[in-house]
Parts: sequence; C-alpha cells; structure tokens
Amino acid sequence: MSFFDKFKAGVSEAGNKAKSVVEINRLKLQNNGKQNEIDKLYQAMGKLLFETTLQNVPLERSEYAGHMERVLILQAEIDTNLQQIAELGDAKQCRNCGTTVDSDVRFCPNCGATFGPAAQFQE
Ligand SMILES: [Zn+2]
Repeated sequence: MSFFDKFKAGVSEAGNKAKSVVEINRLKLQNNGKQNEIDKLYQAMGKLLFETTLQNVPLERSEYAGHMERVLILQAEIDTNLQQIAELGDAKQCRNCGTTVDSDVRFCPNCGATFGPAAQFQE
C-alpha cells in the first residue's frame, strides 16, 4: 500500500469512527427521551394509585393497562438502541457524565474527566 493509500485509509477510518460516535450519541439521546417518558408514565400510575387509595375506591386494571403497555414498548425500544450502541463498537462512555467518546480519547470533551486506565470506562 502506498503512503497515499494508507493516508486515505486512515482518514476514512477516522471518519467512520466519528460517524459512529455521532450515531451512538444520537441513540443515547433518544434513549434519554424514552426513559423520561417511562418516568412520566410511572408518575401517572403512582398518582392513580394515590388518588384511588385516598378516595377508597378500587384501582381498575383498565385504568393503568395502557400505561404499562407503553412502558413495555419503550423498554424494548431502549434495549434495541442499546444493542445498536454496542454494535457500533469502538466508543466508550464517560463514567462521570455519560457522554460517549472515542475509545482513544484521554479527556472527556463534555466534563473534562480524565480517562486513565481502561477501568475508567463502561464498555
Ligand atoms: Zn464526562
């Protein structure tokens, strides 16, 4: 391989890496949104339980079945995204702030945490 070919290969490898970090962060952002929605549904179910208990009326399954179904769908979607994140591979997560960074980065660009030994990372 000529120097120029090696150079081109190196550039495209770096490009792919950057692309997967962007994609991983996009999936994580999506998962944060889904997790927020789950939390709101839990909150709504808790409120239902509180109000029915306070008024001493039974809580019917039909009142929260829709919430439960939506939570299960969201959880499955989060799992799918996590799998995709794992497949995208060569990126790691900052333990301090959760930002996904390239595996060979030494400092977190978001919070400035130092990535020393590999133990600093969540795989
Ligand atoms: Zn960080």
